[in-house]
Amino acid sequence: MRRLARVVTRILNTHYHFDHIHGNRLFPNATVMLNQVEQECFPRLESIAGKLGIQELYGDAGVAEWIRAVAAGTSPPAPFSPAFRPEWWFSTRVPAEAYPYGEFAIGSVRTVMVHSPGHTAGMACPFFPEEGLVYTADIDLTRFGPWYFATDCDIDAFVRSSRALLALDAEWYVTGHEEGLLRRSEFAERLEGYLAIIDKRDRRILDLLGQGVSEERLTDHGVLYPTRYHVAPWVRTPDGRSFAGRWPTGPPGTVPRWSSGRAFILRPRPVRCAVS
Ligand SMILES: [Zn+2]
Repeated sequence: MRRLARVVTRILNTHYHFDHIHGNRLFPNATVMLNQVEQECFPRLESIAGKLGIQELYGDAGVAEWIRAVAAGTSPPAPFSPAFRPEWWFSTRVPAEAYPYGEFAIGSVRTVMVHSPGHTAGMACPFFPEEGLVYTADIDLTRFGPWYFATDCDIDAFVRSSRALLALDAEWYVTGHEEGLLRRSEFAERLEGYLAIIDKRDRRILDLLGQGVSEERLTDHGVLYPTRYHVAPWVRTPDGRSFAGRWPTGPPGTVPRWSSGRAFILRPRPVRCAVS
């Protein structure tokens, strides 16, 4: 690893989410690059807080507390969540350079950074035309389904960006997380089932509402995250903001509204951010 840390001179982050950046800190000599929409996130954690919804839910004080928590590195970890991991701090300290969307070369390798908004506003999927290979990042085909719960997410764009990957002249699809390397035909086949999870979630929400579950209690039913995850502060609210809902010690309170006629977006009432 030490040797690798010496020879890596450039890191291209597809987007700013924790699970895609937390290794930046291991390469102190490398230039960290991020898409141009999200470039400001490094080193401005306030910008990340805005995109994730911390600002929206908890205001300036909540953002300041969150940044203090990750900078100190002494906060107790949140179960199932990277919310308070100090790598947020260590991996975002070097100001990012922006890579352009479109084609450029990494050494002798033709690279096309395909702007794929939806999961985040700026996410880019690297496509290597000579190899016929694309890295799909968080269009990941996992059983969990599409992730679109932060302030900067857009469900319709997510669907469009996902299908647009099939317009590339690619035979190989490297998916994020656990699904691995897929041939084009398999990616195409599995993609529709993956996107159908969006509708399944929406139907489940409608069913629950139809059964008389109040909007405030929807979060008790694990529409998105299994209820065991709800001990973490940021997964309490389904189909809303990724940091939405209640901190463990915060009072309940979410006011839902409809968005785009299909997506259920929750706008929690501000609660005090109980970061210690
Ligand atoms: Zn992500």
